Amino acid sequence: MWVCHATQSHSECPVLGGTARPYARLGLVGTISATHTRFMTTTLITGANKSLGYETARRLIEAGHTVWMAARDPERGRRAADALGGQFVQLDVTSDDSVAAAAETVAAAGGLDVLIKNAGISRPQAPAAELTAADALAVYDTNVVSIVRVTNAFVPLLRSSAAPTVINVTSGLGSFAHVHDAERIESKVNAPLYTSSKAAVTMLTVQYARALPEMRINAADPGYTATDFNGHSGPQTVTEGTDAVVELASRGGAGPTGTFIDRSGVAPF
Ligand code: NAP
Repeated sequence: MWVCHATQSHSECPVLGGTARPYARLGLVGTISATHTRFMTTTLITGANKSLGYETARRLIEAGHTVWMAARDPERGRRAADALGGQFVQLDVTSDDSVAAAAETVAAAGGLDVLIKNAGISRPQAPAAELTAADALAVYDTNVVSIVRVTNAFVPLLRSSAAPTVINVTSGLGSFAHVHDAERIESKVNAPLYTSSKAAVTMLTVQYARALPEMRINAADPGYTATDFNGHSGPQTVTEGTDAVVELASRGGAGPTGTFIDRSGVAPF
């Protein structure tokens, strides 16, 4: 067993070699074989007080990672973090001030390697012709504008990481390929605001990946999962629903960027 510490350069780490890059925070833990390398990261998850965000935190903490469990409600967020051994930070993805304060807190505590933008809403939902501009602004602020707001606040922290990773939690309902495939459940759903918001999340992922090639920026579709989001109607468990996100969060800065995956692998846009 060996460990590459924060003070070691890339070339000093026995399994990596190559360019000299400081390993701020990132502890590399594993056997002498590079194929068994395990990257210990500091990760922040938005909307981590319950459901898919909470399960993602549980799995990453269980694997040994440090996890900031961000939530808009301090009481519920702190309770969730205490239950799992995570660190709590207040973060409402619709508030510039809240997001900026959370970034300051995380920066002061040592920085960030993995940013998981999980918080999202499905409502308000109504027949298409009854949807209002206010409905659209509410869904887009939480699901889409938040991607820009949170990315903007945390990219400076990620720039100090040796393995900067961004994961945007999107949905198959935002995939043009899936909604046109009569065999898939996504083709049976009519929810103009939610589906189009997630199509925007996926495209934002592609665009940020192009703009920031030094980071791994990918989108993950949990799949239809039983949570409060859908009245627990989904057939998947939260563990199944977090497979794609946990996979992306565990790559240690390796792998492709600008992709869209689900728990079966690369998914079509
Ligand atoms: P959920 O049970 O409704 O949980 C959503 C989480 O987001 C909660 O922690 C919620 O906090 C948080 N949130 C909502 N608005 C927020 C805000 N303004 N600021 C900070 N946090 C906020 O939903 P879920 O099923 O876990 O879904 C998580 C993500 O997966 C979403 O992005 C969703 O679109 C996506 N997704 C879900 C499914 C599915 O079938 N479940 C499928 C595909 C994609 P509060 O507790 O304070 O409300």
